[in-house]
Amino acid sequence: MKDVLDMGISELRNAMDEGKVSAQELTTQYLDRIEAVDKKVRAYVTVTEEVALSQAKAADEMIKKGKAGPLTGIPLGIKDVICTKGIPTTCSSRMLKDFRPPFNATVMERLAEQGAVMLGKLNMDEFAMGSSTENSAFFETRNPWDLDRIPGGSSGGSAAAVAARMCVASLGSDTGGSIRQPASHCGVVGLKPTYGLVSRYGLVAFASSLDQIGPLTRSVEDAALLLEAVAGHDSRDSTSLPRPVPPFAKACRQAMEGLRVGIPKEYFIDGVQEEVVGSIRQALRVMQDMGAELVDISLPHTEYAIATYYIIATAEASSNLSRYDGVKYGFRAKDYSNLMDMYKETRAQGFGPEVKRRIMLGTYCLSAGYYDAFYKKASQVRTLIVDDFKKAFKECDVIAAPVAPTTAFKIGEKVNDPLKMYLSDIFTIPVNLAGIPGLSLPCGFDQNGLPIGLQLMAGHLQEEILFTAASNLEKGLGLNNRWPDLT
Ligand code: GLN
Repeated sequence: MKDVLDMGISELRNAMDEGKVSAQELTTQYLDRIEAVDKKVRAYVTVTEEVALSQAKAADEMIKKGKAGPLTGIPLGIKDVICTKGIPTTCSSRMLKDFRPPFNATVMERLAEQGAVMLGKLNMDEFAMGSSTENSAFFETRNPWDLDRIPGGSSGGSAAAVAARMCVASLGSDTGGSIRQPASHCGVVGLKPTYGLVSRYGLVAFASSLDQIGPLTRSVEDAALLLEAVAGHDSRDSTSLPRPVPPFAKACRQAMEGLRVGIPKEYFIDGVQEEVVGSIRQALRVMQDMGAELVDISLPHTEYAIATYYIIATAEASSNLSRYDGVKYGFRAKDYSNLMDMYKETRAQGFGPEVKRRIMLGTYCLSAGYYDAFYKKASQVRTLIVDDFKKAFKECDVIAAPVAPTTAFKIGEKVNDPLKMYLSDIFTIPVNLAGIPGLSLPCGFDQNGLPIGLQLMAGHLQEEILFTAASNLEKGLGLNNRWPDLT
């Protein structure tokens, strides 16, 4: 039998249903793998061994009774921004270091109902602010392909854990690229769903009009299965869309014939690493050979996306993060002289530098006298970006582009230059501003052996087209089953 650590979700389903491996054995193997390699990668903030083993036991019961669903007994990792009842949910921040939520996020409830197994909580940039996981208040996570490099961020732990085979799949969150960019740097599949497709209830808020939870997996089909499991309407999230969940996994088996693939000229610009462009062009030819039609398109407001995002996201963050005041929950400073001083000390000691930078930026953009010039203007430009995509999707079904301008950079390379760090989000941010889905798929390796990601974007709620295009391309490229060794 193939090594269980190499198997995807449906392969594992079959193996478990046929009694070749039990959920408990599988979980134990994954826990051993974490024990063996996480010393090097450092993807997990918390390993929930006891929870995992008891969930696996329950999963075995479900399987025995013939009640298994696609995810029953599948060991998963969860980004530490998603609330897990009674289990630390730190957002990789000192502010929430000892926070144990009294409730589960909706996605966690859905996974639990289906008998999925949680191996632990994964490292991230503090409050999901960053692109390298270096902003974690605890430790850096390393790229499994090259331990001197960043795994991307903010869901760096989620991507690294999947690539290092320390979980079958994981959940991350994406506000400006935080699922797709680390997926790209770690050579895994990552999907940011349409805004409103997955409930945000229990997702610790960063920028509420942009945040979405989504899957990071080793294959397109796994992403479809995990998305099917967590998506769907939730009355506890007022932005959740009341709409049945489409059969995403089925869409993976559709042919790509006749699909129109848009190539936006604004995404193939100077400054993008040559090998990134080369790999993507090669992948486009593969799509063409499989019957897709390539069309040149334009998304003219792309150049304003970063400025727009860093106003809207920081404005929303400054408001969302005002709840950390040392009173309601989380960290409280020890020494203070009065109430105001307690607030100040708590926030000064509890937040790291990037979070403080964003709170200050956001507060400034929202302040009287500046609101119109910054926040209002950014909201107007956001509408222009939405319209760019609407127009483009009249000419094509999916858009193909890079995920990030370069492959994974070295740890420490950009950490002291916030602007440089922000610029690396240029190709992922427009998708969040427009609320549409975006998927990152491995499409090659650079000369250092680092993975390159290709991004596919589709119209609002067009995830099925995305899955069809991505799974065909995945087969056409045949890059699967090449994983970093680490032992
Ligand atoms: N890198 C972007 C930022 O720092 C995106 C983060 C995210 O998607 N959570 O804001």
